[in-house]
Amino acid sequence: MRQPLIAGNWKMHGSRTDNAALIGGIRGKVDDAPGVELLVCPPSVFLAQVGSEIGSAGIALGAQNVSEYATGAYTGEVSATMLAEMGCHYVLVGHSERRSLFAELNEQVAAKFAAAVEQGLRPVLCVGETLGQRQEGETDAVVLRQLDAVIDLVGPNGLRNAVIAYEPVWAIGTGETATPKQAQEVHAVLRQRLVEVDAELGAAMRILYGGSMKPANAAGLLSQPDIDGGLIGGASLDADQFMAIAAAASEQLKG
Ligand code: PEP
Repeated sequence: MRQPLIAGNWKMHGSRTDNAALIGGIRGKVDDAPGVELLVCPPSVFLAQVGSEIGSAGIALGAQNVSEYATGAYTGEVSATMLAEMGCHYVLVGHSERRSLFAELNEQVAAKFAAAVEQGLRPVLCVGETLGQRQEGETDAVVLRQLDAVIDLVGPNGLRNAVIAYEPVWAIGTGETATPKQAQEVHAVLRQRLVEVDAELGAAMRILYGGSMKPANAAGLLSQPDIDGGLIGGASLDADQFMAIAAAASEQLKG
């Protein structure tokens, strides 16, 4: 059984005051989602603060980005070692905003993934197609290229502790959500590729859905056989909404 993971990508939002209130709200509701792993990914400057607000509440900490380089003259970059030292267990790699706004290519995303694995961080590899690519019937090819770039670099062993997030670009921050059927189809394609590489890896990999997931649509998405949780943007900034999604994931465990 794959443990559901509900992850919050705070993007470039937050302040010391807002972070304390948000973690306080999540802490107050962790009992609403038994059996679900919770993860928050604040901006890197707030990792220390958020880590200390989390305390022993059993909420994992993650970063939103990592350098592909280990150390050196890379102004503005943050290494995987530094993230691990700040208490991160996870890091997002290849989020569509990094790909589209900061020109990250598949090879660079794969290098970031490898840097994270090297330091014992669990990468959350984000993949997804644009609206144009979906309309051209290229969805499967696009997400498989994004996944294959990582498989080619790190091999099946490098993926063992990873998570994949399928995030159709047209659904991120737009209020548009993939239907459960649309999402399930792509999740199944991704899992099938992993199974081809290594059956055990494919069966164990958690594949999250991301793209305007909200309390109102979470249950439908999370009920799909290959959807193992969510990567939540906007709704992760509201403790009630975030934990309502986590509670929906917990409900799925009851069968
Ligand atoms: C995201 O940023 O990963 C995301 C899914 O955002 P939203 O939930 O706001 O669409």
